[in-house]
Amino acid sequence: MPNEACLREGGLCHYRNYIDGTWSEADGGQRLDCANPASGKVWATIARSGPVDASRAARAAHVAATTGPWATMRPTERGRWLRRMGEAFGADIERLALVESRDNGKRLSEVRAQFSDLPEYFHYFAGLADKFEGRVLPIDRSDTFNYTVWQPYGAVAAITAWNSPLALLTWKVAPALAAGNTVVIKPSEHASASTLELMQTFGSIGLPHGVLNVVTGLGEEVGQPLIDDPHIQRISFTGSVGVGRIIATRAGEQLKRVTLELGGKSAQIVFEDADIEQAIRGILSGIFVSNGQSCVAGSRLLVHAGLHDDLVRRLCEAVTELRYGDPMEAATQIGPIANLPQFHRVQQAVDHALEDGARCVAGGTAVTTPGGGWYFKPTIFVGVTPNMRIAREEVFGPVLAVMPFEDEAQAIALANDSDMGLAAGVWTQDIGRAFRLSNQLQAGTVYVNNYRGLAPQSPCGGFKQSGWGRENGIEAMREFLQLKSVWIGLGALPHPYPTSES
Ligand code: NAD
Repeated sequence: MPNEACLREGGLCHYRNYIDGTWSEADGGQRLDCANPASGKVWATIARSGPVDASRAARAAHVAATTGPWATMRPTERGRWLRRMGEAFGADIERLALVESRDNGKRLSEVRAQFSDLPEYFHYFAGLADKFEGRVLPIDRSDTFNYTVWQPYGAVAAITAWNSPLALLTWKVAPALAAGNTVVIKPSEHASASTLELMQTFGSIGLPHGVLNVVTGLGEEVGQPLIDDPHIQRISFTGSVGVGRIIATRAGEQLKRVTLELGGKSAQIVFEDADIEQAIRGILSGIFVSNGQSCVAGSRLLVHAGLHDDLVRRLCEAVTELRYGDPMEAATQIGPIANLPQFHRVQQAVDHALEDGARCVAGGTAVTTPGGGWYFKPTIFVGVTPNMRIAREEVFGPVLAVMPFEDEAQAIALANDSDMGLAAGVWTQDIGRAFRLSNQLQAGTVYVNNYRGLAPQSPCGGFKQSGWGRENGIEAMREFLQLKSVWIGLGALPHPYPTSES
């Protein structure tokens, strides 16, 4: 990987695909520019891959899964590899975090904090690599022995979004490899560099060739051929509901199984008995800390009518004090939006909210900073009604839609009035209410008096249009394993067409 000098001294970095342990240009040699969102300037290029590259990567993963060392490796040994990967990741956090922050504009301090957790996911799944036991089944036949065994699919396609490339990658790659699969990763065209840097890290510890491969480029040009490739047996996708639908349709045509981690319009619900200081921290962190570019962003705030005006005033005060700046600077509290198309989408969502009659009480406009870049003010809308676009459509940006409620039943009805169901937050001191809400909210994750937590042990995924399947926890291993039933005959078979003599 020839980018050490340009990362150290500046200048344009050039990234290539990583296929079968080798760095290679895209077939046809085309490239895409990568801009630094803090300045809008191009800092790197990536390979603009197509069907030939997708096919090479899928074949390399297939060969590694079926004939390479990975195919015959004992599960305990695979677990050792995952531990080594976790250690290597941990040792390279600083380099990886610098690259990811430069590429997608997330604040360096936040990226470092997220990356310091990621080795634990490799260690967790390392421990699960040799724990998936089959069963001996007591079928009613003394001449036959029946048991089940969990087996990997083979080559997996892992397609990821730009908001947290290495976290999203880890949640797919660690369980997929632990289960015995191999993987082709297609990162977002808006943030591919950290994924390629991580391949350098894993290559340097001697991970067998073909076990992990990366092809970069546009979704339609290389992502789609990858999921269509006959060597790909399983698909794991993180991204928008719209692209998730396309992928599910194509995968369905080929009857390939797919895991979908999609968008959200998650509600944070603040009751009159909540600890308001804690709730304010949770609301700010839920929607503004990553500029709302988090799948579980708490983008709808449902607040008891008696608290509404005071809570909104305090949130507005809090966001006007935040410092904009270079995501690499420790003092920066608001970094840029991750890419130009997303910056335009945020602006468009704000325009739609105003057209629909919502009232903007904080932000609502872009920010100009000395370094350039794509900055947007933390934005709060009140006067929102459930049918407005700002209450229904994911923005994936720093935009909060506030709606009052009168009682618990109305709060639950408003929260569940969404096509999506990724997460929900509940702020209350009433333990009975906490349990009732946790039970009734239609969301894959419910947080009570906290928000945005993640852990390797805890499954995460969506209800409704927020997705299919789960990442993390033991459940994530099942996504990458299929169950086989084995019948062993123990005696002579009866004649298939018995006659009176036989
Ligand atoms: P996106 O759907 O536009 O793209 C995601 C990935 O799919 C990219 O790598 C893209 O190149 C690829 N892609 C696009 N079209 C494709 C096609 N036809 N075939 C194959 N691949 C294709 O999403 P995005 O803008 O990168 O990310 C933002 C979205 O991701 C938001 O909706 C957010 O909620 C979601 N997200 C969800 C989670 C979760 O865990 N649920 C986590 C992070 C982000």
